[in-house]
Formats: sequence, structure tokens, C-alpha cells
Amino acid sequence: MKKLELLKKYFGYDSFRPLQEEIIDSVIAGKDLMVVMPTGGGKSMCFQLPSLLLDGITLVVSPLIALMKDQVDALRANGIAASYFNSSQDATQQQEMLEELRSGRLKLIYVAPESIGLLNNHLQGIPVSLIAVDEAHCISTWGHDFRPAYTQLSYFKTSFPDANLIALTATADRATRADIKKQLGIQNAEEYVSSFDRPNLTLEVRPGNNRLQQMRRFLQKNKDESGIIYCLSRKTCESLASKISAYGFDAAAYHAGLSHEERENVQEKFIKDDLKIVCATIAFGMGIDKSNVRFVLHYNMPKNIEGYYQEIGRAGRDGINSHALLFHSYADVIQLRKFAEGSGNSELQIAKLERMKQFAEALTCRRKMLLSYFNEYLDEDCGNCDVCLNKPDFFDATLPAQKALSAIIRTNERASLNLLIDVLRGAQNAAIMESGFQHIKTYGAGKEITWNNWQQYIVQMINQGLVEIAFHENNHLKITPQGKEVLFNGRKVSLAVIPKPEELPSRRAQRTKEELPTEVNRDLYEALRKTRLQLANAGNLAPYMIFSDATLKDMAARIPLDDNEFADITGVGTHKHDTYGAKFLKMISEFKDDRKKDFVYRDEIIKPKKAKKKSTGPKKDTVMETVLLFREGKTIQEIAAIRNYQPGTILNHLTKRYESHNDIDLEKLIDPKDYDLIAADFEQIKDAESLKSIFEHFDGKIDYGSLRLGLTLLNEKAAI
Ligand code: ADP
Ligand code: ZN
Repeated sequence: MKKLELLKKYFGYDSFRPLQEEIIDSVIAGKDLMVVMPTGGGKSMCFQLPSLLLDGITLVVSPLIALMKDQVDALRANGIAASYFNSSQDATQQQEMLEELRSGRLKLIYVAPESIGLLNNHLQGIPVSLIAVDEAHCISTWGHDFRPAYTQLSYFKTSFPDANLIALTATADRATRADIKKQLGIQNAEEYVSSFDRPNLTLEVRPGNNRLQQMRRFLQKNKDESGIIYCLSRKTCESLASKISAYGFDAAAYHAGLSHEERENVQEKFIKDDLKIVCATIAFGMGIDKSNVRFVLHYNMPKNIEGYYQEIGRAGRDGINSHALLFHSYADVIQLRKFAEGSGNSELQIAKLERMKQFAEALTCRRKMLLSYFNEYLDEDCGNCDVCLNKPDFFDATLPAQKALSAIIRTNERASLNLLIDVLRGAQNAAIMESGFQHIKTYGAGKEITWNNWQQYIVQMINQGLVEIAFHENNHLKITPQGKEVLFNGRKVSLAVIPKPEELPSRRAQRTKEELPTEVNRDLYEALRKTRLQLANAGNLAPYMIFSDATLKDMAARIPLDDNEFADITGVGTHKHDTYGAKFLKMISEFKDDRKKDFVYRDEIIKPKKAKKKSTGPKKDTVMETVLLFREGKTIQEIAAIRNYQPGTILNHLTKRYESHNDIDLEKLIDPKDYDLIAADFEQIKDAESLKSIFEHFDGKIDYGSLRLGLTLLNEKAAI
């Protein structure tokens, strides 16, 4: 079978993600590979699909024991023979697995690096075609997650001379990549480094004042969605989890201070959609394959961009729009700076923190800035970050800037940011009284500007290099030579207007459900999720293993009514179609019967106008492929054979094309006999609630594809 057919059959997808195809070709050609792809980029496919094409077994080395079972379950749910071997299994389970191995049926086996030695004894006489080393950065002491057990992997190339090796990771700079290759003995491996861009993540940074309330509003808007909230300390984790639980959200804390069981429990519930929100320290989420995390919030600022990037990467792995929101506060920066100063290589840590801070304060496209950190350069602004969505307006802020600069000088450069704002606003608090600054000339000179706005203006002035923070002197603000230019030489300053928090950004990433065109579609989506949850509970599976959110969304938008249409949904492979197709189809048709009156018009139900545009992402290609073959002069039957689809599906593709572009001669396609039959009864059937009832009207003699085609033509005529 060809690659694309396998992709549809086993995984239900219509096309490859960037680089996947090239990588798979190289793997099949027997080459060694070093692959760097961001989290969610689809690394697993790079060895899972080849494993189906290779004669021998594919050995997958992964350090994430806790996730092995999930990964294997997910493969089995797709009808792929896979198993795993690690220290969490008891003797019986290991025995079972070894029998499967000897039977020669297994395509993939996952193993923890610690258990390789043990497994090796059982691999005698078993052909190993491919070795995949996942999370390969763990092999390098240069990486951030070194695991001693990984260093034993160097013998692979000698022990399995016939197998080629693919090393995969989401994080490795050039030096780390070279180190990984050297250690695995694959110096000549081809390197594939894919873009680090995750366009479906909306990036947003907000000032951290009032972040609890801001977060509450955010959660309100994202009810029922899964998300992770990262915090700096265990204490914040705990208190935040209890506060947002008290607001009525479903949240739990996760940090290294909890027992192993407690942590397992939180993770398990989160994966199973049994728990919506996890407030976590950085310990949470490594390798979690939960594709429907819709938001990642940073309650506190991460200490560097690598960490930030990894953490936001846990959102939106299914490709659906997701939100990464960071709260930026000076208190955090100061705290992190203290940590960094106390660490081993403090200079580097401080420099990294500085970059993180610059990112948070940027007034240019955030994605550009983020990617430039990874040496990737975007030509255009991304259009999906708060800066792009809400390009700040600048105003001539020379006067307020002069006030602030003057206050800095008059306080003898001995006021911190907060105190300086109090001075400018003429506050009458203890800090002021103690400092004696109520007597200086600029005291109260900036009353007309709110506290929050002052804070942001001064932060901008810091970024523009007019002011600096003396971290070693109690964070006092100092004026720079450029600042003096403003104060004494009439240099102009322009600052960005601060939008009100509610206005930011104007066009939020749309949530899964909101993207659906009508209320009926949205309700159907909810109903589908319920069905999925029931099936998941019954089968003791995580819901995403049945179908991803992206798949349910496609169903809710296109409302499949028969097996043909169901097979066409993204994420529906043969195995899952067989296992779940009937249940979902039944549920959908019942839902439709229940909601008859809400369905305005038959064709709109099946192909809602708006949904067509949005949900066709990957589908567009499949329609186009059919159209191209059709233009080559192939018949429906021929195209169906080439593309391995039912003729009805091919007709559907062409009808879709006709509806969007009007450039297909549909009349040529329909059997005149069918057309006449449909035309004769058109008045009778044109208002039917479903295509299915029309199908039954003709006793099943006319297939769905022809029916839809005929109806489209006749509707068209009727409209003229
Ligand atoms: P990574 O290991 O790189 O973090 P995964 O292998 O877990 O990423 O893939 C992330 C998600 O993308 C999974 O849900 C996977 O099923 C999905 N995926 C992988 N390849 C494709 C594809 N070609 N089309 C659609 N979805 C895909
Ligand atoms: Zn942008």
C-alpha cells in the first residue's frame, strides 16, 4: 500500500504535515536520521507509518514510561499491532508481550532505555528494521534533560547492523544535534529540522496586574476547555488551584511536592478529560500527548524562552486554534533574577531572563521575536499575536516621559518603579512618607495618569533605553544618557497607547465550538463529545484516543450521514471507522431527527456555507486532487479506483467544487436515467429533512452521490 493510503487507513489523515513525507521516504530508504520538530509537529508519524511498511519490527526507545501505555493504546485503537516493555509491568504482562513478540505479529515495540538490556535477550532471531530514539536530547549532557540510561544506546548501531536509526527531539541546537549523532554512532545521519512555528497558537502577553481577575474572565470565556496554568512556586500552584476551584472551575494542582500517586492521578484525569485545568509548576506536561489542550496560561513569567516555548507547545497539538497567554509582572522578573543570581552559571541565566523579558515587553510581532530566538525569520508579521491583532497606536509622550525622568533625578535615582509611580501620582502612603519624597517638586506631577498606565509607560521607557533598573541596588530606577537627551535636549518620545484589558486583543483565537457555523452544529459538537466520553469510559480509554477534537469538529460541521461520508472525515481511519462508525452515525442521525426544525435547509445542514470555508482545511486538498484527475479526463469510476474511494465520494468532491467554483459540468456526470427519476419527484422530495429519507424514497436505487448531484442541479434550475 502506498504511504498516503496507509495514512488514511490507519490514522485517518488525508495529507502529511511539513517534512513528514520526506522523513518517511528517507526512513524507508534505510537511512539514519536526526529529526528536530516542535512538540505537536507529528514526530511519531515519522516512525509509526514506516513501521507498517517495513518487514521487521520497529523498536521505539522512550524515557516516558508513564506515557508508553497511552501511546501503545492509541496505536492499537488505530488497528496497529504495538506493545511496550518497561519496569512498570508485572511478570505476566511481560510474558504476554514476549509471546506477541515471538509470534512475529508486532510492528512496534516501545521500550524504556533502562529496560533495553533485558529486552535485548529476547530479541535474538527477531528482525529489527528500525530503531527510533524519541526525546533524543536526553542522550546529550548538553541538553537540558540528560538521562544517564540514554548513554547506553551507543551500541545500537553495532548490535543491529541491519536496522537504521532515527533520533527525534523537540529541542536541540546545532551542538546538541552533533552530540546526539556522535553518541548514537550516526554521524552521517540526514538532518531534518522543521520550522518551530506553531501558527495555530495565538500568542498574547498581558500586564500582570489583577491577573487573578483577568484569568477568571479568561476561564469564563473558555469554559469546558482543557488548559494548563503554569506557576513559579508550589505555593502559588496550590493557592491558585483552590481559588479557581472556588470560582467554580474544575482545577487541581500539580507539582513536585505531591506524592507520586497524587501526581499520577492528576495527570490521568487530565488526559481523560475528567479534569479541565491543571495549575502546575514546570514539572507538568513533558511528553503529555493530550491533543486538545486549548490554552496554556503563564500566571508567572517563565525563566527563559526555551521553557516558555516548550510549555506553550502543549496547547493545540491537534492543530485547532489555541491560546497562549502570559502575564507579565515586574515582581516576577525580580524574583526570577534572584533565582538566576543564585544559580551556577548566573550570567547566562540572567541573559536568558533578559531575552524573556524583552519578549514580554515587545511592541513588535511576538511570533517574529520568538522564532528569531530559534534562528528562524518570518518575512511577515504573523497576524495571530496580541501585537499583530491590536497594533498599538503611538502618541507623543514627551511630556509624561519628561515628568518621569525628572522624578527619577529628583529622587536621586533611589526610587524603585512602584515608589516612583507613587511619587508621580502624589500618593500618601507609608513608603512615601518614609522616603521624604513628598517634598520634591515632581511629587503629584503625574496625577492625571492612572497607576497602571504609568507602570506601562515606564516599562516602555525602560525598553527604549531611556531608563534602566539597577538590579544590584534594590531595583532603583536610573536615567540613561538617552534619557538625559529627553530631559535636557528636547529629544521626543513616543509611547504606545495602553489599551484597556478588555480590548486586548480585538480578535481572540476562536474556540473550537465557536468556529462552527450554526447553533445546531455547535450543539451537535457537544453531543458528539458526550458520546465520545461515554465510549471512552466504557473502554477505559482517553477520549482523544477515540477521536480528536479536530475530528469531532469536522463531523459537527459536515454532519456525515452514511459510511461514505463518515470515512471522509479527517482522523477517521479504517479501524476506528469499524469500531466507532456505527455508534457515531446512529447518534448523529438521532440528533438530526430530534432537531429537525432547527435545520433550515437540507444542503445547508450537510454543508453549511461557513463551515465549508473553515473546516475544509485538509479537505480542500482531497477535493482538489479529484478535480485535477477529472480535468485530465478521467471518469468517476477511474478516479474512484485511483484514489481508493467510493464513486459516491468522488461525486461529492465534484459537487463541492461546483458549489464553490461553478467550474464543473455536473450535468455530464449524472446518469440521465437517475436525473429523470429525481426530476420527476423533485417537488415531492425537495423539502425532505435528510438525504437519507430521499435515498429511501427511491428504495436505495440511486446512490447518495448521484442524489446530491441531481438535487444540486435541480435546485439550481428552480432558483433561476
Ligand atoms: P510530537 O511527538 O511531535 O509532539 P505527535 O506525534 O504526538 O507530535 O503528533 C501530534 C498530533 O498530530 C497527534 O494528535 C497526531 O495524531 C497528529 N498528526 C500527526 N501527523 C498528522 C497528519 N499528517 N495530519 C493530521 N494530524 C497529524
Ligand atoms: Zn504577530
